Amino acid sequence: MAFSKLGLSDPILKAVSELGYTAPTAIQQQAIPIILSGKNLIAAAQTGTGKTASFVLPLLEKLNAAHYGHKLRAKRIRALIITPTRELAVQVAASISQYGQYLNLTSMAMYGGVDEQPQKQRLLEGVDILVATPGRLLDMAHQRALHFDELEVLVLDEADRMLDMGFIGDINKIIERLPAQRQNLLFSATISQDVRYLAKSAVNDAQEISVSTNSAATPEIEQWLITVDKDKKSALLSHLIEQQQWQQALIFIETKHGAAKLVGQLEKRGIKAEAIHSGRSQAVREKLLADFKSGELSLLVATGIAARGLDIDELPRVVNYDLPYQSDEYIHRIGRTGRAGASGEAVSLVSKDDFKNLCAIESRLGHIIERREIEGFPVKKVVPVSILNFVPKSKRR
Ligand code: AMP
Repeated sequence: MAFSKLGLSDPILKAVSELGYTAPTAIQQQAIPIILSGKNLIAAAQTGTGKTASFVLPLLEKLNAAHYGHKLRAKRIRALIITPTRELAVQVAASISQYGQYLNLTSMAMYGGVDEQPQKQRLLEGVDILVATPGRLLDMAHQRALHFDELEVLVLDEADRMLDMGFIGDINKIIERLPAQRQNLLFSATISQDVRYLAKSAVNDAQEISVSTNSAATPEIEQWLITVDKDKKSALLSHLIEQQQWQQALIFIETKHGAAKLVGQLEKRGIKAEAIHSGRSQAVREKLLADFKSGELSLLVATGIAARGLDIDELPRVVNYDLPYQSDEYIHRIGRTGRAGASGEAVSLVSKDDFKNLCAIESRLGHIIERREIEGFPVKKVVPVSILNFVPKSKRR
């Protein structure tokens, strides 16, 4: 299918073509016509499937079509995209600027952790598309720095993650303030019970679509793991980086403290890495991300939360230094690699205390992850083979 068949107008098609997109991805083929028709939508799609363009392109089309003669009033917005993290907000806003470069629509990313004055100033003129994290958004609404009475479309992006991060209260308070007459779009990597509950209050009468991880746009991700004693993880990681000559890797770790410690351990072995986590300032995080993207920094150690929303194209490799507690999080992490046409690998270092998480992940995948052995790292505490129908306690009924 060609982009031109989707009902998008020339300035948008031109921008998309200049980005080198030759055909819409599966989620784009399904979502764009539904959104253009004005219906509510619930979409199960994770990062890497082209989901951002699947709502940004039709949003631009609709707002542009209704733009003629429209004068934005002060502090008003026409579309609101809520994202879990500032990094994702920045990324989505960047996509809007790219896809909308030949249109006359305005957009802005608004998030916490930075001075609110410039954001307030910007809102004074009104903004067509606002991308915001829940906390700062609610704060601005409380301060009457923005009003929702002209809002036409609400998008909840990475809804599952927003719930995981405890934003449900803020989101509900925002939704209460929105005009009843509006179009609602919800995107989520997985549609859990909690997401359904949120959807019930925010997105009624919705059409539902889902794209699997194996959609045409999602490249092959080679997953493998190494079992290792916990106290040998950093030595093993250094060994892999050197022996396999890793040029670029995003390394996930559970805690801030662990991230800082690992960077120190790598440094002692002459390997340069940097840590990105919620304890670092926004300016530092942005600089590290830019360096990592440009290739100046080849190893980035990130806590799961900080890493959410980082859009790094064609990342060759993600490493799970620790396995995440949630199997969805694993899926999300590995979706960071091999994006948009490139292949990638996801490597996990698994010690005995990761066993339960491994069982949950492999059960979720429906298969066991290939185990590889690395010479020089014999394991004392053996990690058993998973039982594939494992259900974590918290999910048992
Ligand atoms: P997302 O799933 O929104 O995070 O997008 C993943 C990546 O796919 C981004 O780097 C986009 O630039 C890219 N992308 C989105 N749509 C297409 C497309 N139709 N063809 C090629 N690349 C795309």
